[in-house]
Amino acid sequence: MKYSHELNFLNVMEPIVRDMLEEHYVQTRILSCACDKCTLDILLLTLNHLPPHYTSSQEGEAYIKAYYLNPQQQSDILREITKAVQIIQERPNH
Ligand SMILES: [Zn+2]
Repeated sequence: MKYSHELNFLNVMEPIVRDMLEEHYVQTRILSCACDKCTLDILLLTLNHLPPHYTSSQEGEAYIKAYYLNPQQQSDILREITKAVQIIQERPNH
């Protein structure tokens, strides 16, 4: 198989976690520090604990996003975000 440098792919968990973190923790202003560094650390820590879900098409992205709208999936992701929030808030890297 030949790989192209123009090959475009996405871990769909990335926008999903980013949106949920934004909605549940940034907009609600409950983070003790919501600077770019802390929110990025929370995002990365969460993504490292969730299985990635890659796609290379917009159809695939829409399909995966729809799948993760399921309440069970949402609560699994939110649980990981909450764990990461607790860790980073206790020990911010700055
Ligand atoms: Zn911070």
